[in-house]
Amino acid sequence: MTPPPRIVVLAGGVGGSRFVLGAREALRRRGVDDTAAALTVVVNTGDDLWLSGIRLQPDIDSITYALAGVNDTERGWGRAGESERVNAELQAWGAGWPWFTLGDLDLGTHLARTGWLREGLTPTQVLERMSRRWHLGARLLPMTDSEVDTVVTVREGGGIRSMHFQEWWTRHRATLEPVGFENPGIAEAVPAPGVGEAIATADVVLIAPSNPVVSIGPILAVPGVRDALRETGAPVVGVSPIIGGRVVRGMADVCLTAIGVETSASAVAGLYGARGDGGLLDAWLLAEEDRGLADEVAARGIRPSVVPLWMTDAAASAGIVEAALAAARR
Ligand code: GDP
Ligand code: CA
Repeated sequence: MTPPPRIVVLAGGVGGSRFVLGAREALRRRGVDDTAAALTVVVNTGDDLWLSGIRLQPDIDSITYALAGVNDTERGWGRAGESERVNAELQAWGAGWPWFTLGDLDLGTHLARTGWLREGLTPTQVLERMSRRWHLGARLLPMTDSEVDTVVTVREGGGIRSMHFQEWWTRHRATLEPVGFENPGIAEAVPAPGVGEAIATADVVLIAPSNPVVSIGPILAVPGVRDALRETGAPVVGVSPIIGGRVVRGMADVCLTAIGVETSASAVAGLYGARGDGGLLDAWLLAEEDRGLADEVAARGIRPSVVPLWMTDAAASAGIVEAALAAARR
């Protein structure tokens, strides 16, 4: 048997976890037993936050729970069979944020993580430890060990003010007009141990259909990541999070508008840029609904592939990953 392709995925939470499930499924279909040796996921940590003294890592947890099969598939985030007794107590104390629910099972994760961080483990070491509880079938790496939590600047009442990304996203449902996204401290950050090496030794790098601005954006903003992507011998293939000119889940359109990028599969490809042109992409997967944009993508110097991009289940996502691997080979 030929060795399995070493796949590196750059991913955010919801779109990222569905895509990663597909990557693991695609490897399993190829008869790969040790999928964790073939699949490395570099996860956005821009969503992370401190709340009531504990460290939350929403995108890392979304991917971990999905791979473990303990995620709430109906609600789309958090743990299945969740309860909220501790949250009610926190609210009664006036602790935390009244609009941000912390489930009991989820809190167990956050407490374990925070304890280990306080003992001196790095986020990479904590994630490695957390990856042992369940059989995930993938190696997860935070994009960086530095805290670079995303801050959103919004226009409000004639002025501007800044808030944590989670406040803007969860409390305000992205309704306050953003004028910019920043990750304070990111200029001094370095990629987490293993990230550079994974990219350098990959057979293919896949950019998941995640939010280009607040999920993939922070990963690419860690100094060294863009260089690693430009220098790797592996093809870099992106998957459009935009289908038929619309975002599928979430509010990525608001984020794109804020940075002056149209909500279109071609414009997002342009944001990442063609590798031959100083950008990142060799190839770009477009949805069938966006077939008409294939020429525009090609004109940007990026090879387009038109495939169904609805990640309805792991099988559908695996099909997308297979199409990405095929696009990489061409
Ligand atoms: P978050 O971190 O939880 O916001 O999730 P991600 O950043 O990983 O993913 C959010 C993005 O996933 C959104 O911009 C959606 O457009 C995209 N997305 C969600 N479901 C699908 C799907 O079924 N197909 C595709 N192509 N994109 C999707
Ligand atoms: Ca996220």
